[in-house]
Amino acid sequence: MNKNKINLEDYVINNYKKALDLKYIQAHFQPVIRTLTCELCSFEALARWIDPVMGVIFPNEFIPVLERIGAIHLLDIAIVRQACDRIKKAMINSEPVIPISVNLSRLNFTLCDIFSTVDEIISDFKLPHDLIYFEITESIMTENTELMQSIVNKFRDAGYQVWMDDFGSAYSSLNVLKEIYFDELKLDMCFLRPFNQRSQRIAASIVRMAKDIDIHTLVEGVETQEQFDYLKNIGCEKVQGYLFGKPLPYDDAIQNLKNKSIKIAKLNERNYYDKVGMVNFLSSIPFMSSAEREEITSAKRLNSIPLALIENNENYFRILFYNTAFKNTASGTGMFSITFNKKILLQELSYHFLSDKIINLMDSTRSSGNGKMNFTSHEEYYEIKTKCISQTREKYCVLLSISNLSKSARIKNVGLLNDFLRQIYSLFERITLVDIKNDTITPLYTATQENLVSSNTGIRAIIQEFAKKYIFPDDREGYLELTNLDTAQERFSDNGKFYIMKIFRTSIRHGQYAWKVYILLRINEDTYIMLIVNVNELVTEMLSSPESDLNKVFKPELLWRTLVQSGILRVFWKDIDRKFVGASQAFLDYYGFESLRDIIGKNDEDLGWHVHPDKYMNDELQVIHEGITTENIPGWCIKKGENREILASKTPFYDENGLIRGLLGYFIDRDMLNDNDLRGIETKRRDMLTGLLNSRGISEEAGVFRDEYYLRGIDFVRIHISIEDIASMNEQYGYDYGDRVLNVVGNALKMVFGRTGAVGRYSGHKFVVLHQVQNQESVSSIRVKVKNIANSIQDINGIPITLYLSVGISLFSDCLDLDEQTNKAEANLMLQ
Ligand code: C2E
Ligand code: CA
Ligand code: CA
Repeated sequence: MNKNKINLEDYVINNYKKALDLKYIQAHFQPVIRTLTCELCSFEALARWIDPVMGVIFPNEFIPVLERIGAIHLLDIAIVRQACDRIKKAMINSEPVIPISVNLSRLNFTLCDIFSTVDEIISDFKLPHDLIYFEITESIMTENTELMQSIVNKFRDAGYQVWMDDFGSAYSSLNVLKEIYFDELKLDMCFLRPFNQRSQRIAASIVRMAKDIDIHTLVEGVETQEQFDYLKNIGCEKVQGYLFGKPLPYDDAIQNLKNKSIKIAKLNERNYYDKVGMVNFLSSIPFMSSAEREEITSAKRLNSIPLALIENNENYFRILFYNTAFKNTASGTGMFSITFNKKILLQELSYHFLSDKIINLMDSTRSSGNGKMNFTSHEEYYEIKTKCISQTREKYCVLLSISNLSKSARIKNVGLLNDFLRQIYSLFERITLVDIKNDTITPLYTATQENLVSSNTGIRAIIQEFAKKYIFPDDREGYLELTNLDTAQERFSDNGKFYIMKIFRTSIRHGQYAWKVYILLRINEDTYIMLIVNVNELVTEMLSSPESDLNKVFKPELLWRTLVQSGILRVFWKDIDRKFVGASQAFLDYYGFESLRDIIGKNDEDLGWHVHPDKYMNDELQVIHEGITTENIPGWCIKKGENREILASKTPFYDENGLIRGLLGYFIDRDMLNDNDLRGIETKRRDMLTGLLNSRGISEEAGVFRDEYYLRGIDFVRIHISIEDIASMNEQYGYDYGDRVLNVVGNALKMVFGRTGAVGRYSGHKFVVLHQVQNQESVSSIRVKVKNIANSIQDINGIPITLYLSVGISLFSDCLDLDEQTNKAEANLMLQ
């Protein structure tokens, strides 16, 4: 068929309506791939006009025509609808859900209220907003930046991602970037054409700049493996192009992925990899000399700091990325028991390929965020630094750099290390220089994680911090004695020694302690060195005649001390004048006391925390003078600025001679009891999952409301609130996530209605509120409140969410029967 230009234009004008109606114009889907994992992360929907008469008409042929006649928004809206339809189908059929990006032509912004139009479509499909991304070509923005800014913000505030398409194609790109916030930049590969040094460096700079301002990057039009490798190495997060697939009808596009063995990324890992993708591999460029820069020909050489991204599971790790510098430094260090080659990228390897030290380092990096380790290998002295970039419950990703300190001239401490010293160093876990004159500490050598303390200056504060964080409570005093600088001089001259050695239980990780030797070594009057050695095995071996009789291990004093130090029970004890003698940590925490000193020797009146002190005074006098035990006496106390209802129990404290010497008491907070008690008094009325009332609890409450109606004529509503599509949330993110959603919604309802009404959950995803009303107006305000709740919840466990809540309301006065009121509320359920 001859597609003569004039004819084609006329043909488009005369036929586009029909083509849209009859679906001659269809969305085709092109894959977008994440470089670090090579998994599919989304599709771009691209319009194709497959005409029975003209054959395939390409977008560049009909889009300009539609733009000219002001009909382009009809196309974009149709494509949005088709994209929604695809995603909904995937949800219903339990297929993997793949986010889709759609293009919005510039004219939309003047032709119609594009935001409301597409938002309505997506809401009609009840789709989470984070599944549709909008691509807007930057040239549009330059015309009316303010209008664009407000529209882009509208989309983003509603939880949609907005991407800037064809970045760099117009002359004012950077200006637009300054004014308008985008989630992602799309660069066309033609930017990199010809594919030479200069264009490569520009692309690298753009990627780095985008990361600097927290924008994700995508390059489209990628056709060769060479281009892909380059883009991955400069840290470009995603690519799109014929290398991975052309735009195809949905099912063909999926089949194409299968043929190419491309996996579909899990939605619940999207946030995790988005964070990982933000790591800037090129951060070393600014440190290069201009001569070095001249030399650059490939991205791999750009990366002069040896860097790798390592992803860890329970028993497996995989290397998502490493640069050449990393490969050169790491091979031969014994860090990995495998040689480096491209094949190990992305492959799951079991932990025994890593040295033990590295595994420990990974582990501590996950919990503390950062890590650092020194080790020696083949007479070379290395330092590894780590940072935890991102984590989910199952996996975490660590950025790792390795440097050969022996070769590095920059680090002056290394000058101290000669071949023999190095062996001695490695006996220790840490070697720290304490400089009293300058009031600093300097780690000289560390074999475990770095940054044990928050700063390196202010020795006294550091010692306190370390003691509190790492030394076993019982050993703290001894540690503070050893490190007391005021007495150090004296102690060393007294015993004529040049070192003092003590042993303390020191925190390792996961709440465990290990015996470690601390050696304070005197160099001169202002300079000391602290050496730390882990001697746990030795000591535990010596100490433990392995105790088989557990009753001897659980000694009463130890049990009591554990109880008091733990946060689980609020106990206190007082003398016969009702003055505090002691209390448990939980007690202090509840009231926010810093230490026991704040209360010892004081009675309740001194502390002034009861609004009506008489009640507890009398009951304490009874305990002390009559030997009575009181149980669950309700009363009020002031806690951190609010009046709380508590239940206190007290019992006389007898000494060995049988004399009452005071009292022992404990209390519980009534509200907390009600909120948290899933098994106690109220079990039968409460929903185990959310802690709200269950349907039985609610129907009891309804009785009370009904009585009020007949007694005092106050009407009340029954509101049913249903979360739409909880099933697909369970499917996408797991049942734990679904439970979390129920909890968050339940809590929000309680916050909004719980003060004045009864809130419950009467079935899986349905909640109920009973609420008194004075007039019709409050009924409509209830709907608004529920809608506000839905809008306010945009993120659960770091996963963006769009909540659709249906609401059904019925007035008691309309029914005068509780069952009928319930049925009516259910029948009235409709989406807000
Ligand atoms: P675009 O948004 O920049 O879309 C990317 C274009 O690059 C697509 O052309 C795609 O087929 C093409 N492409 C993808 N990978 C490669 C590759 O590796 N090499 C080469 N040479 N090309 C590649 P297409 O589908 O012809 O679309 C052209 C333009 O038409 C799009 O550019 C977009 O601006 C516009 N367009 C397409 N569909 C729609 C739509 O539904 N609404 C609006 N407003 N515009 C659309
Ligand atoms: Ca596009
Ligand atoms: Ca583009």
